Amino acid sequence: METFEVHYREMCATLSQYMPGTDMALIDRAVDYANNKHKLQKRKDGSPYIIHPLAVAKIVTEMGLDTDAVLAALLHDCIEDTDASHEEIEKLFGQAVAEMVEGVTKLTRANFSSTEQAQMENLRKMFMAMSKDIRVVLIKIADRLHNMRTMQYQTPAKQISKCRETMDIYAPLAHRLGMQKIKWELEDIALRYLEPEAYEDIMSYLRAHKEQDEAFMNTIQGKIMERLNGVNIHSTTYGRIKHVYSIYRKMQAQDKSLEELYDVYAFRVIVDSIPDCYNVLGHIHDLFNLVPGRFKDYISTPKPNMYQSLHTTVIGSQGIPFEVQIRTWEMHEIAEYGVAAHWKYKQGGEGNEKDFEWVRRLLESQQDTDAEDYLQSLKIDMFDDEVFVFTPKGRIVSLPAGSTPIDFAYAIHSGVGNSMIGAKINNRIANIDTPLKNGDILEILTSKSAKGPSRDWLTICKSNQARTKIKQWFKKEKREENVAHGRASFEAEMRRNGLPLSLTIDPELGPQLLKKLSFDNWEDMYAAIGYGGLTAVKAVGRIRDDINRALKAQQNERTQQPAVLRTSPDSEAVKNNRHAVNGVVVEDIDSCMIKFAKCCTPVPGDDIIGFITKGFGVSVHRNDCPNTKNRHEPIQAARWVRVYWANQEAQPFETTLELECITRDGLLLDVATMMTTTRVRLKELNGKDLPGGKSGFTVKFEVKDVTELEAIRNKLRSIPDVIEVRRGQN
Ligand code: MN
Repeated sequence: METFEVHYREMCATLSQYMPGTDMALIDRAVDYANNKHKLQKRKDGSPYIIHPLAVAKIVTEMGLDTDAVLAALLHDCIEDTDASHEEIEKLFGQAVAEMVEGVTKLTRANFSSTEQAQMENLRKMFMAMSKDIRVVLIKIADRLHNMRTMQYQTPAKQISKCRETMDIYAPLAHRLGMQKIKWELEDIALRYLEPEAYEDIMSYLRAHKEQDEAFMNTIQGKIMERLNGVNIHSTTYGRIKHVYSIYRKMQAQDKSLEELYDVYAFRVIVDSIPDCYNVLGHIHDLFNLVPGRFKDYISTPKPNMYQSLHTTVIGSQGIPFEVQIRTWEMHEIAEYGVAAHWKYKQGGEGNEKDFEWVRRLLESQQDTDAEDYLQSLKIDMFDDEVFVFTPKGRIVSLPAGSTPIDFAYAIHSGVGNSMIGAKINNRIANIDTPLKNGDILEILTSKSAKGPSRDWLTICKSNQARTKIKQWFKKEKREENVAHGRASFEAEMRRNGLPLSLTIDPELGPQLLKKLSFDNWEDMYAAIGYGGLTAVKAVGRIRDDINRALKAQQNERTQQPAVLRTSPDSEAVKNNRHAVNGVVVEDIDSCMIKFAKCCTPVPGDDIIGFITKGFGVSVHRNDCPNTKNRHEPIQAARWVRVYWANQEAQPFETTLELECITRDGLLLDVATMMTTTRVRLKELNGKDLPGGKSGFTVKFEVKDVTELEAIRNKLRSIPDVIEVRRGQN
């Protein structure tokens, strides 16, 4: 029976145990304040409302959080459910407490249910992003735990929806935060309502076998204790049945009945030191028969959520397999309470690099954050570079922070962006340059007669995606036809005058001609001819003399120095029409096939050189590619040609990077995560073991130029345990 007295007494007892100096009068003031505010409310079971915040505060003390967090837990429903205000709470209990209560309130108001599995990760990220302070997340988890414990008083519909949300959001979060004990409890209660029959089956089986199970566990426990006492290893040993949900999941995954299920028993041996862990392991393997392939050393390689233990599965004399987990007391605390336990250890202490790593990995950081700042302020700001908003149908869209309805519209579809005439945020008409906030619901108003994006949008929008699509529109909708028309008439006029077109892209003469024409680039000039700002006759007239002069100079040069390479003699027209293929111009060759060498995958900005292959056009290598080192040999020399990057808007280029790393858990995830933050298109990510405890990753992706490539290379280098990142050399 839950009573005020029981919760209150337990909360105070735990609190004075781990924080002996706690100001109990302050705690009492918060209890009285909350009790007074909630006095008109009753719980669903008819008990006074204060029971709930008190129970939540009790769970928070079990996690070992500080006084402010306990106060915030006591007050966590005041803003949402009563006339209490942020200001009042701040005045009475301080700013930190008021902010935490506000944070919990925000999470309470947000709706974290979604029917789409793919959205779960985003929901969890949004949850974190909205929380800002890790203590807010922990209070909210405690809140949910107590609500789950009292779920029987809710309506069946509410039970289902809350339990789903618990499975989708809270249990995975508890897991990620390393809070195994709470995660198990959440899962077991949720299963009870979501799959009542399966739950009942397992429970009744366990009830029926209770005596048998206990006898078995006592025997094993006795054997282990006897041995360890005999060799003077100070230890605590106990057996347990794995939690219901994990049994359920195993049955599902292995398609087995409970009777057939492998290892439902788990034993824990908790010792004082790491060497003792390995000693115990030796004794366990000596006492029982080892099941091969089931030993896992999570002490030397902790799980991503920092879980540490040795796991091994053995078979006792009765032929029943069971798992033994061996750990130290500190590892045990961390396994049970995760981030909270860790936080407890570090209270008042300095955070060091390794601790930061831990928290960072726990929360799957997506950006670099300052280690010291992070631990000291306990802020969850790793998702600050993202904002999560909803479509009216509840789909979550993640956008760069500061994004506007314009970004949202283009994230939905370029057609939506191009026909946008306005936007609604949370059902109210809003300016299309309004910065979006986490949890906003966006609706884009479109019209068939919309005139398309305006040029201002390019400076308003925050996402590259929107910017690219808007640019595409401008290029496509109007410019493209202007440019095409303009180019056609310009080229016709050049031909009429007997002038080669190739010289317009000559690196020296080109800019000179453009200057004569008063344009920055050829596209603009073609566009101008296209829409009639300039006639082709006039344009050619202005540059005719310069071209003829250049042609003459070129001919003189040729006669003095025989060209290494010529195009086929009858392709005069083609020769005059030299242009870029795949973004590359080959000197003296027109419109030939261009391929990028697989060995060195050059990207724009790299120094490059071309090789005329037999029948496959020109293959482009990086200048420093080992395959080009024979280029000066007489037999080959004639086949190497100068090539350069055309100055056109680049399409993405595929390239590869090779990583050499020290093997550890979670490395692949770190690499993948880093690649997502770069927002380039990832094509392949492969890993393999290398000798000497190392591993290698090959990352294949698309970049626009070498600058972008170098930026990514540097980012990858910054991942811990990455030794070297090389350009691909197959
Ligand atoms: Mn609550």
